[in-house]
Amino acid sequence: MSSEQPKKIKLSDGNFMPLLGLGTFHLKVASSNRSQEIIEEAIAAGYRHLDTAHTYQTEGDLGKAVRSKIQQGIIQRQDLFIVSKLWCKYFAPEDIPVCLDKSLSDLQLDYLDLYLVHFPVGLQKVGDDVFPMKDGKALTTDIDYVDVWKGMEALKASGKVKSIGVSNFSVSQLERLLSVAKVPPVVNQVELHPYLVQSDLIEYCKSKNIALTAYCPFGSPDKPKEMHRGQTDPEKLLEDPVVGEIAAKHSRTPAQVLLRYHIEQDIAVIPKSINSVQILENMKIFDFSLDEEDMRALRSLDRGWRAAPFNEVKTHRFYPFK
Ligand code: NAP
Repeated sequence: MSSEQPKKIKLSDGNFMPLLGLGTFHLKVASSNRSQEIIEEAIAAGYRHLDTAHTYQTEGDLGKAVRSKIQQGIIQRQDLFIVSKLWCKYFAPEDIPVCLDKSLSDLQLDYLDLYLVHFPVGLQKVGDDVFPMKDGKALTTDIDYVDVWKGMEALKASGKVKSIGVSNFSVSQLERLLSVAKVPPVVNQVELHPYLVQSDLIEYCKSKNIALTAYCPFGSPDKPKEMHRGQTDPEKLLEDPVVGEIAAKHSRTPAQVLLRYHIEQDIAVIPKSINSVQILENMKIFDFSLDEEDMRALRSLDRGWRAAPFNEVKTHRFYPFK
């Protein structure tokens, strides 16, 4: 096992979240069904934060990987920070615990470290598609995320989740949530990288003691084609010359610079990789720093570009990326 353990940040409820995690969206397909093996490899390398979701189809393999590493004596359950997400088809009060129980059962766990509301727009519970569509439009509901939050608070009270948070929430949605929440969200997991800097959102979350997790740190270059609906070609963040220059200056790779960019801001980051060399490379970000000049140059690349725009629900009143 690597001696290099990722640093942690303290959440507002007193729990600790490792700053580096392994993303598992699209892992199963990208790895031709090797997700369990890859997750085991990441745990052995020292990853302690594992990110999944009801919709990723990786909860089963993640659960098997965790169980196997516990049986081998490599880790104990309490060493890990396991995150999953409530999908938008389960926003009705009676469905919220059902979605969590399905995740826990697939993961073979009796609790999650962090459970997030995946996205603030409700979807109708029809068919098997992640986004149920009719005539080119997503079948949404009008369920208010503020009401969903009451269900999340009940899950925390049940002890089945240690911490609760949100994902893809805007500043105004967080403000509205905080004005009524009995238990405030401890995390907002959002897309962040130098092409999507989101300084206002970062500043707001920090002012309210809401930790951030950055997803798609490399701009999700292997995102499946069908998810490019209504989007321009993917941007090549890893090949950006400015990122390359900063990497050369520090004798690091562009990927390490893009990950360190978040660590400098005390933001957790969850890169996904199916490649053994890159899984290790992505961990080696705690033994160098970016200076102010590097950070300024990276922030200057901002172009408001999203790898995950959730265009399917763009016209909904709760769509967060306006
Ligand atoms: P990503 O991490 O930005 O990019 C993954 C891609 O980067 C893969 O093609 C991977 O290739 C490549 N890569 C990884 N390490 C590399 C390295 N060191 N050098 C060069 N290329 C490298 O994309 P993502 O998976 O979309 O996002 C990360 C995680 O965020 C997801 O897995 C998921 O857990 C989470 N997420 C959350 C939401 C949400 O709504 N909350 C949305 C999207 C994603 P290889 O696999 O070949 O290494």
